[in-house]
Amino acid sequence: MLPRLLYRMTTEISPRLLFKAGHLWVFKGDRAMRAYRKRLKRGELFPPFLFLALTNACNLRCNGCWIQAGEAPRHLPLDDVHRLIEAGKRQKAYFYTLLGGEPMLYPQLWEIVEAHPECYFQIITNGMFFDAASVEQVRRLGNITPLVSIDGFAPENDARRGRGTFEAAVEGIERLRKAKLLFGVATTVTGRNLDEVTADEYVRYFIDRGAMYLWYYVFRPVGPAPSPEFCVDREKMLTLRRRLLALRRRHPIILIDTYWNAAGEAVCPAAQGLGFHIGPGGSIEPCPPLSFACENLADHEGDLFRTIDGSRFLRGFQQFVSERTRGCVILEHPQELARFIEESGAADHSGRDALAEIAASPPRSSHHLPGEEMPEDYWVYRFLKRKLFFGMGGYG
Ligand code: SF4
Repeated sequence: MLPRLLYRMTTEISPRLLFKAGHLWVFKGDRAMRAYRKRLKRGELFPPFLFLALTNACNLRCNGCWIQAGEAPRHLPLDDVHRLIEAGKRQKAYFYTLLGGEPMLYPQLWEIVEAHPECYFQIITNGMFFDAASVEQVRRLGNITPLVSIDGFAPENDARRGRGTFEAAVEGIERLRKAKLLFGVATTVTGRNLDEVTADEYVRYFIDRGAMYLWYYVFRPVGPAPSPEFCVDREKMLTLRRRLLALRRRHPIILIDTYWNAAGEAVCPAAQGLGFHIGPGGSIEPCPPLSFACENLADHEGDLFRTIDGSRFLRGFQQFVSERTRGCVILEHPQELARFIEESGAADHSGRDALAEIAASPPRSSHHLPGEEMPEDYWVYRFLKRKLFFGMGGYG
């Protein structure tokens, strides 16, 4: 698979963009991880990667989404974004995942990317806004990789994301491919689409359309309509893990999961302090589906390192998780999690009553599969996971 992947990379991506990705994403990602490990040894808390929810505005209303798009959209102020990235750079954090809502609806999106050419940005988008002008911006700037969300072929995808969204997203990625850009596809695995999205045919479809990486997320039943019927149970989680290992050997595309380390043990990125989520109001939250915070970007006169390092909530969350599971506490321990959040005095920034939603959720299994761990059996992934994989801003 590796020679074919390298061949694809060198023939399908513009050399300038490939070089930028190698330098800003991979090389600096490695440096960010080294700096993070050193901080851990000193007992300091600051992640190597950060998620920025630039806006809660979105043109879609996907099933199972936790974003509450209000009448008047909230945007993270541009000055705050710049300050945050500057603070991140001081800690050698150069990779930022920009999400929303729909980040392409953030008015100054390109300004952010342009102002920080030494950083690399991943834009998680529904792919509907790649017209000629925005594709040209991505190409010109070069320090961006779009990650387009698609959750199965048209019938399955459109059932969750809305009619016509598959076709529109595929049209978007077709434009990215023609411009020789580096992009990926993000697929949320549900109990319903598991077979479809882990089939060779699905992976091949996106290889043929130029995607260099396919990023698998697992559905979380959160939000105003949690849709528990989409949950992935333990048996299906084992199937997902098994299929991922097999697909990785077969296809010239990078298949990413942020759920298991090289030994096949479960990982919660937030509990390890690998990445935190900044909400559109500046709240500093453990991860995208957990919109609770005690701190804000404005705290400590904008000194982000001091704010995160001194956060009793984020540190308490790490402790809370480590005492219970290697997996996802949202799924496994919802009631205890709700109590922990309440006792921490964290504010709910979801725009809903997310605390009540979590408290009402029954415990479920997650990607923590004790006794049935499956280590990475392909050296490329073992190497990448040890070095980088959990450092790319992913959340479990
Ligand atoms: S495993 Fe759960 S709690 Fe941890 S980062 Fe992922 S979604 Fe958040």
